[in-house]
Amino acid sequence: MTWVGRSHQQGPVYHLESSDFAHVHCVAEDGTEWDNHVVGIRTDQEIKEKADWSKSSEASMKLNVLIFGFDSMSRLNFIRQLPKSYTVLKSMNAIVLEGYNIVGDGTPQALIPMLTGFTELELPDTRRRMGSRAQYCDVYPFIWKDYQTHGYVTLYGEDTPEFGTYTYRLKGFQDQPTHHWLSTFFRDSMSEQKKDKFCLKNMPRHRIMMDYMKHFYTVYPSQPKFGFVFHAEYSHNDFNLIALADSDFSEWLEWFHLRGHLNDTLLIVMSDHGNRFANVRNTQQGKLEERLPFFSFVFPPWFATKYPEAHSAFTKNADRLATPFDIHATLADVLSYDNASNAGHYKKSRSNSLFKEIPPTRTCQDAFIEPHWCACLDWEMLSPKHEFTRRIADYFVTFLNDLSFSVGDISRINEYGKQASCIYDTFQDLRKFCYCKQQS
Ligand SMILES: [Zn+2]
Repeated sequence: MTWVGRSHQQGPVYHLESSDFAHVHCVAEDGTEWDNHVVGIRTDQEIKEKADWSKSSEASMKLNVLIFGFDSMSRLNFIRQLPKSYTVLKSMNAIVLEGYNIVGDGTPQALIPMLTGFTELELPDTRRRMGSRAQYCDVYPFIWKDYQTHGYVTLYGEDTPEFGTYTYRLKGFQDQPTHHWLSTFFRDSMSEQKKDKFCLKNMPRHRIMMDYMKHFYTVYPSQPKFGFVFHAEYSHNDFNLIALADSDFSEWLEWFHLRGHLNDTLLIVMSDHGNRFANVRNTQQGKLEERLPFFSFVFPPWFATKYPEAHSAFTKNADRLATPFDIHATLADVLSYDNASNAGHYKKSRSNSLFKEIPPTRTCQDAFIEPHWCACLDWEMLSPKHEFTRRIADYFVTFLNDLSFSVGDISRINEYGKQASCIYDTFQDLRKFCYCKQQS
């Protein structure tokens, strides 16, 4: 039986050596041809020999880190659209963060703090439009550099190179950022990708990303590994398409589980923010979901016994206010866990490792979340007699008057009927701007 999109082996195995990617062209005896871009993890003796747990610190938790992200998935939309995957995650005792709040707009404002501990503005300017004044993103203190120093093999990859986190608005990388880098594959196969929606010939594109991570674990079975892939093609602009990945993703999770890979791995399934462009964003629900992305962690079964305090704090933090800065501190703790600082004192710093308890009273201000992005932001009614109301009204009237002198004409996009009836006879031209005190 042939399964479309499933690979099956019939001949000898070809080992990739000089690259993770190859272009394969086959001609059968009857002249039938097949070609495609294929992906694997090359065997690189130098990387293999350098990777070793002995380079990790005394305080290392000795965990591989495996992160799989889907762009633009709120926690609730993950549950709605990926029910099989969510069930599998829950069966693995995943800790799902329910108070994880974004700290800025879009993918970079989620991934930069998470991977560097800083905001984009605090780091050297890498904006493409700054031309030669912009630096490459290589200057960022990415956490995978620390993992590399601690003896880990590193992997990073995104699909949709045209909207890449570090290439769309930013200048991108000058050198390959990690030992294995999937983004170049998606860039190289762009022209081929345009021919079929979501597939590369017989292969669904999301499976390329999933298989790459499987190869990573197969080629480096015992070496320390840090891998992060981020998939955007289905969910970035669409609310429902991501459901196409549910079966494959749940099988992918089970593959790691059944092979025993999760016994020494911290598995993180996450997103950067909720949907920003689908119609749902025009609703109050959509606004909240944009601010509350999916973020989950699966620890090996032994973890709670070996690190009872850290695990207990982590479990409590599932419903506390958390941010990408906290994820960075958590990833740093995996490399070097500072047990002493877990004595219960909480500093109001913006990065709080999830291995240390976050107080339930933490506010958005404590967590470096601007009011605009804070899911807790609550609107309050002000009395028309309040001093502020008067001042705001005066300011607004001045603003509007200035505007109406400088702008030739405006469009009212709602039906305003007789709202301006009191000035019809005197100031006809102002009817679009007026709301009469007496409404008949
Ligand atoms: Zn995004």
